[in-house]
Formats: sequence, structure tokens, C-alpha cells
Amino acid sequence: MPVHPLQWVRFESVACLNPLLEASLLVVDPQAWFAARPWLTANPRSLARAESLDARALDALLNTREAFDGVGRIIGLGGGTAIDTAKYLAWRTGLPLILVPSALTVDAPFTDSAAVRRDGRIHYTGQVAPEAIIVDAALIRTAPAHLNRGGVGDLLSIHTALHDWRLAHTRTGEPYDAAIAQQSASLLERLREQSCEIYAVSDAGVRLLTELFCEEVYLCLQAGSSRPEEGSEHHLLYTLEYLTGRTYLHGAAVTLCALVMAHLQGNAPDELRTLAGACGAEYRAILTEVGEDALVAAVLRAPDYAREEGLPYTVLMETPITPARAREAVAWVAAPLPPQQLQ
Ligand SMILES: [Zn+2]
Repeated sequence: MPVHPLQWVRFESVACLNPLLEASLLVVDPQAWFAARPWLTANPRSLARAESLDARALDALLNTREAFDGVGRIIGLGGGTAIDTAKYLAWRTGLPLILVPSALTVDAPFTDSAAVRRDGRIHYTGQVAPEAIIVDAALIRTAPAHLNRGGVGDLLSIHTALHDWRLAHTRTGEPYDAAIAQQSASLLERLREQSCEIYAVSDAGVRLLTELFCEEVYLCLQAGSSRPEEGSEHHLLYTLEYLTGRTYLHGAAVTLCALVMAHLQGNAPDELRTLAGACGAEYRAILTEVGEDALVAAVLRAPDYAREEGLPYTVLMETPITPARAREAVAWVAAPLPPQQLQ
């Protein structure tokens, strides 16, 4: 039976780590370390800066023997990169692991594999179960609000992922679990009902986002795949990052890609855009960073990328996406919102 990740979550202050620090390797991103410092009065045994998920950088860190001297535990403190780096090191060394997200930007703290980049392409590797995941709302609120709001991207992706899963079932006979799909869709409903808490990054919002991430991860474990939350929107993002050689703020970028794919799927794109807006996901900033032309190029390349990578069947693999359709979808996302959809 898969383990529900919520059982590892402790809603408490990061100060609870103080007694553990002297025998720990603390993997941080510098901003999170700075933000947590007022609560962390003890010094860690060693400190590693998480800079990149590139496999070579991770292995170099693993081979830095001094970093592991006298270390009995790995603590990952920060955003996605610090969390995934800590998971990777714990997996490779077998040391116990504690995760402390400094912002709820991605579901990474609650999944059991670590993301690693090889030759520019993202892979999920290893299997690790943490001893605890510390969710401290006060620490999380030290991160810019838009980062936390953007975390909904990995939930909004349910909207497009479920469409792809049903499509794959119809077209290829891939097993589809209607009960799991329905539970996954209900997570979006809970998000809709309490989107104002997410926007406010309130205690209730932090708790809700944590619970929804855990539920989603658990549904994926039960399904035996990431079908309940990952489909063509993630595949489009992977293609975009591959083509540009850059990484984007995950939640906001997934939101952008989910909107484009919902439009191409003919799958209630306006509804999704309203929800993204209510939660305050700043997908427009990503569009500005990426540029419309690069996004259109990624849409056109995504079917080949998905095939090359052996990714699951999605809408990308069926209707040939013409340059005109790709442009239309991207233009819809880029267009100013109609007045009733402005928040
Ligand atoms: Zn994601």
C-alpha cells in the first residue's frame, strides 16, 4: 500500500530543528537559509548550497567528503532545488531526511523521487521517504507571495492532465481509473472554494495547499503513474525548458502551459484561467520572460519531444498542431482578460 505523504507532515516551527542541526548536513538555497536564520539558533554540522539539479553538480556534491563528516541526517531547506538536492543526497547515501519547504512552489517536498537533470532533460530518480516534512506557515510567508500563490500550478495541471488521461484511455486502451480521476478533479473544486486563502497565503491557505499536494501525490501513487496531475501541460513545459536551456518558476510556468494546452484541448480554458487568476498565479510574468514566439515554437516541438522521451500519450500526439493553432492558443493566453475575469 502506498503511504499517504500527509502522515510525514508536521505543521510546526522550523525552530524544532535546532536540536538536530549539529549532526546534520543542511542543504539550503541561500534566501531560505537567510529567512530561517531568526528561528535557527544552532549551527549545522555542514552546509551545502543547492544550485542546480544537473546530475554532474549533484554528484560533485556527493563526492565532497568533508560535507558528510559526522553527518547523521540530511535536511533540505528551501524551494524545489534545495528539496530535490536533499532528496537525491539522501537517496544516494541512505541517510535519514527531513524536508522543510520555504515556499509552497511545487509538490516536490511530498513526492518520493528526486528530480535530476541530465543533458538538459529532467528525470525522476531514486525513492526516498522522509522522516518528516516541516511546514511552517511563518517561514513560508517570508517568501514573496507570488511564489506561494504560483504553487497552484501543480494542481491546476489536473485540469489538462485528466483530459489527456481519458483521451489516452479512449485512443490507446491505457487503463483509466474513474474513481481516482474523480477524486483528483475534486481537489480542483476545493481549490476553487478556497482560492482566496491561497491568494492571501493565510495559515488556512498554507494548510490547504499542503493537503492538496499530499492528496494529489497519494492519488498518483495509487494510480501507479502521474496521470492524475501530469499530462501535456508538463510535457510542453519540459519541451520549452529543453529548447531554451532555461528553467522557469515551476508553478507559474506549469500554469501558463496548462492554459495553452486547455485551449488546444478545447477543454474549458476560460474556467481554468478564472481559477488561476483567483489564486494569483502569475503566469503572465512567465510569458513575458519566455516570449510568445518561443512558446509557440515549444508547442510545435512538444509532440516530437514527447515521443523522443517516451512520455505518455496526450493530446499532443493526435491532432497535428498547426502553427496557426499554436499561435491562436498562445495569443489567447497573452490577450488582456475580459473585464469579468479581472481579479
Ligand atoms: Zn509539476
